[in-house]
Amino acid sequence: MVGQSAPGRVVSRPGECGRELCGTEPTAGRAPDGMTTIRVPGSREPARWYCHGCAEYGRALAELRTGPAESEGGR
Ligand SMILES: [Zn+2]
Repeated sequence: MVGQSAPGRVVSRPGECGRELCGTEPTAGRAPDGMTTIRVPGSREPARWYCHGCAEYGRALAELRTGPAESEGGR
């Protein structure tokens, strides 16, 4: 609950924050307590669970992969 006076860019790579299951693909329907399911429609990145600290990073990562696929023509 203690606010940080100077918001720094604390960026930890997903899955390296030390939390179990962070950055993993869901194996069950809903995310564990404290985890958020990040899924970006159209992204080639699969849905993943992230903890609070990594959720934004994970979303950004998935959004980066929504670009036009080069030659993935087939459905
Ligand atoms: Zn995390």
